Formats: sequence, structure tokens, C-alpha cells
Amino acid sequence: MGSLTAPRPRILILGGTTEARRLAEVLGRDPGIDAVLSYAGRTESPLPVPIPWRVGGFGGIGGLIDYLRAERIDRVVDATHPFAAQMSAHAVAACAAVKIPLLALERAPWRAGEDDRWSEVDTLEEAADALGADPKRVFLGIGRLHLAAFARNPQHDYLVRLVDPLREDLPLPRVEVVVARGPFDLAGDRALLERHGTEIVVAKNAGGTAAVAKILAARELALPVVMVRRPRIPERPSVDSVAAVMEWLAHDDAPAAGAADAERGV
Ligand code: NAP
Repeated sequence: MGSLTAPRPRILILGGTTEARRLAEVLGRDPGIDAVLSYAGRTESPLPVPIPWRVGGFGGIGGLIDYLRAERIDRVVDATHPFAAQMSAHAVAACAAVKIPLLALERAPWRAGEDDRWSEVDTLEEAADALGADPKRVFLGIGRLHLAAFARNPQHDYLVRLVDPLREDLPLPRVEVVVARGPFDLAGDRALLERHGTEIVVAKNAGGTAAVAKILAARELALPVVMVRRPRIPERPSVDSVAAVMEWLAHDDAPAAGAADAERGV
């Protein structure tokens, strides 16, 4: 995309994932594209990227519409985590309102193999209940913001892995915290689960490779997994690789978000 004389298209990447960072690294090497990466600001020190970035919420759908207009954004790539459903829904609505194309960069969900023992649930509260009444040793691979759902089951011994060191008390009385940032590997996660004596793993179905090691380790150790299904996100075009995003950016004819609905008169 982009001869040196044509105006450089402005791309907003909604980030917070390894994939968003990889896309930013590729776009940083493309002089024909002017891209900005947006972080929610949940982690204390996001890794540096070779393109400009901004931090913090936009202020709902209206705030995002204002931002897209003020920054003259031509296209949006939603590379947020599959569980960041609110941000993704806002992107669908705002891009439709401003009539600019939107593409999601989404990892395929993980699927249980033949030997896996998964219980699939829709919410973290259901995941907490699926642990049962008897005390167990539980690995929670779900992120700091969602730990409160497990406060209703304080009898378990939890192992929690977080990106940033703790600044507040956790709502769990029996908890060990490990501070580490992915991507994680199978040998490391297997050793972690063995050392803790983990009996059951709780995970969100993030998909992708950066966080899959705990699922593979659970498989090797024949541990049951409580897997939280992904939240529903309004329909939007989506791809699963940075290369496919680059191909989409190279074509000038991507339909504006909501264009199909407009054609159908809805
Ligand atoms: P969420 O519930 O969908 O979003 C809540 C609000 O946070 C959004 O309405 C928006 O605020 C703001 N926000 C979210 N992502 C943003 C972004 N990339 N740039 C600017 N503002 C953003 O999202 P979440 O689950 O809290 O996740 C927050 C961030 O952490 C996301 O960037 C996501 O990719 C990353 N992350 C999430 C998970 C997870 O399991 N949820 C895991 C790993 C990484 P306004 O309404 O004010 O615009």
C-alpha cells in the first residue's frame, strides 16, 4: 500500500495482545502506512513498539467516534484479546458510524483434543462453581481483573500468574502469585503446575500460541481444565494472521463497516 506521493493511510490498531504488537512491528517497517497502537492501560509497562502509541479508554462509542474523526483514521484493526468484548463491540459501532472499514485480527479458539478433560462454561462465576466444594489446588490463568469471581470459593489453594506485581490484596485467602509475562513454554508451565501440585486448571479460551502452554501442560499431566468460552462479539470481518491484515491493508476496496447493512437498508 502507499506510493510515496499518495497520502499515507492512517490505521488505528486496538491492542493489548501479542498479535497487536507483532502487527505494529510489521507496520513500523512500512513507510507507506501511518499507524497508531492503542492500549487500554491495564498493564504498567507495555512493551515498546516502533510506531506511535496511545494509552487509555476513548470514552465509550461516542468517544471513539470523536477520536476516529479527530485523528482522521482511515481503517481500524481490532487486535484486542478475544475477551475484550466491550472494546470490540464499540469498534464495530463506531466504525459503522464513521463509515470506515474494520478488520478483526483474531486467534482461532483452542479446541479440546481426544485426551483432554475440559468442562466448558460461559462465565468466570460458572468456572468458580465448576471447581466443586472440596478444597483443591487450582491454577488460575485468567488475569488479575477476573480473580474476584473466585472469592466465593475461598477453600481452594490458588496459583495465580500475573503480568504486574501486586499492588493490592487479592480477594482470595489461600493464594500464591507468580509474576511473569508470556509467551510461556510447555516445559516451564509443566514445571510450574507440578511444583504447585495443581489438580485443576482454569483458563479463558484465548486461543493463539502465547498462552497455550498451560493447556498443553495440563494435557501432559492429565489434569482437568475448566475452560471459559469466549464472549459474543457483533459480527465483523476477521482474519487470523498479521500477513492477512497486511493483505487487507494493501487493498483499497475494503467495505466500510456497516456498509452491507446500509445496502440492505437495516
Ligand atoms: P473491555 O472490557 O472490552 O474494554 C473495557 C474498556 O476499556 C473499553 O470500553 C475501553 O474504554 C477500554 N479499552 C479496552 N481495550 C482498549 C484499547 N485497546 N485501547 C483503548 N481503550 C481500550 O476490555 P478488557 O477485557 O478490560 O481488556 C482491556 C485490554 O487488555 C484490551 O486492550 C485487551 O486487548 C487486553 N487484554 C484483555 C484480556 C482479557 O482477558 N480481557 C487478556 C489480555 C489482554 P472506553 O469505553 O472508555 O473506550
